[in-house]
Amino acid sequence: MTNPWLWSILIGMRHLRRKCPKCGHEQLVPKEKQAETVRCKHCGADVPPKPPRDP
Ligand SMILES: [Zn+2]
Repeated sequence: MTNPWLWSILIGMRHLRRKCPKCGHEQLVPKEKQAETVRCKHCGADVPPKPPRDP
């Protein structure tokens, strides 16, 4: 059975939102790519992973 709300929960658990620094587009990044730079689906810019924490 396909439950849209269930899928959104599952996807939300396995993906993290990352915001493009160039255009501000938010996209979901799989957790296995959490430490990698991904490409913005909107403008094609590189979206680096979040820095761990500012000192
Ligand atoms: Zn972008």
